Amino acid sequence: MTVGPVLIVGAGHAGFQVAASLRQAGFKDRLAVINDEAHLPYQRPPLSKAYLKGSGGPDTLMFRPRKFYDEHKIELIADRAIAIDRAARRLKLASGSALDYGHLVLATGARNRLLDIPNARLPNVRYLRILDDSEDLRARLASAKRVVVIGAGFIGLEFAATARIKGLEVDVLELASRVMARAVTAEVSDYFQNRHAQAGVRIHLGVMATSIEADGDEITGVSLSDGRHIPADLVVVGVGVLPNVELAAEAGLPTASGIVVDQHLLTADPAISAIGDCALFESPRFGGSLRLESVQNATDHARCVAARLTGEDRPYDGQPWFWSDQGDDKLQIAGLTTGYDKVVLRGDPAQKAFSAFCYRAGKLVGIESVNRAGDHMFGRRFLGMHRQLAPEHAADPGFDLKAALA
Ligand SMILES: Cc1cc2nc3c(=O)[nH]c(=O)nc-3n(C[C@H](O)[C@H](O)[C@H](O)COP(=O)(O)OP(=O)(O)OC[C@H]3O[C@@H](n4cnc5c(N)ncnc54)[C@H](O)[C@@H]3O)c2cc1C
Repeated sequence: MTVGPVLIVGAGHAGFQVAASLRQAGFKDRLAVINDEAHLPYQRPPLSKAYLKGSGGPDTLMFRPRKFYDEHKIELIADRAIAIDRAARRLKLASGSALDYGHLVLATGARNRLLDIPNARLPNVRYLRILDDSEDLRARLASAKRVVVIGAGFIGLEFAATARIKGLEVDVLELASRVMARAVTAEVSDYFQNRHAQAGVRIHLGVMATSIEADGDEITGVSLSDGRHIPADLVVVGVGVLPNVELAAEAGLPTASGIVVDQHLLTADPAISAIGDCALFESPRFGGSLRLESVQNATDHARCVAARLTGEDRPYDGQPWFWSDQGDDKLQIAGLTTGYDKVVLRGDPAQKAFSAFCYRAGKLVGIESVNRAGDHMFGRRFLGMHRQLAPEHAADPGFDLKAALA
């Protein structure tokens, strides 16, 4: 099978991994990654966790040093892809140059959803997606006194925990009636809400920020939909992301809440794949289309495409998993815990170690674990085996999960 040169747009988790896996699988042709960030490809999760808290430099985040790319003949092209000429199989770059491809991989990720309220563009209203954001916030954490975090999702809460550890006054605003409501069970939301409250973070649920108040360029606070005003000198926004679909859409490829791909992660054009945060993929395992935002999804997609391009075509069937570190608590999720109709707890939230086993129509669909890495690892293996675990066994501390794997 001759594929020809492979171009990858985006040097995030998905873009990096597809390049590395292609070379590992013996791909010999030209391989180039178009990178619009001013850094070697790096890991994103620490940006709201260890990196934000710590003092290490950008080198600690890099997947590989520069020499890895030289040795493996992976060209890193510092540029931005602006258009795809599908008929000519040519990618146009912002610098004015154009590159020919045999196969194009879109790994364009996602960007922050921007807040649209008065004063939202002031300098002390910050977001957290890229390395430069984390560096910037690290510096601001050293001088700010009061931060309002808008959005109690994973990133907002990870940031809030770090800001509190650094001694700031922290208020978190959330429109929903519980934290991380779209992603986790009520049991896990409750646990994290309490843990943040105990750490001194004030969480305000069912409210919206309506405007940011300022004196010139200096933020003085945030006004809320219930009429209250919370003083602040820093605002951090974590209200979700938008997938970067425009490059694909402008080339006439189908897009919806992501770039539409089939079970093999191919777009409607057999010479173009899309992977990672930007891809809306067809999943027989979950019976529908999915777009996930996780490292597992990005890297497993990448491996699947690299395998296809080196002769091992198989549908994508990755088992989702995810983690979030909030202060000294670790949340790990195996499977997809949305759409459950029954939750069984194993362990004890009061002991800061428990798991929520989620069932749909009697079938275990996912496990959310708080400080119980063993349950998480069990979930990752067990869910892949298509076996059944009775809810009463999940809830019974005496029941040996390892035995269920045998
Ligand atoms: C702060 C933070 C913490 C996170 N923590 C976790 C975690 O704990 N666990 C977890 O599983 N996941 C976590 N995630 C999510 C995870 O990082 C993403 O799911 C993952 O990065 C997706 O990889 P990707 O390669 O698809 O996209 P990205 O990592 O977003 O990479 C896409 C890259 O493409 C570039 N790009 C876009 N368009 C173009 C173009 N036209 N030309 C050139 N380049 C382009 C972008 O600038 C970007 O560099 C976190 C994300 C963030 C932001």
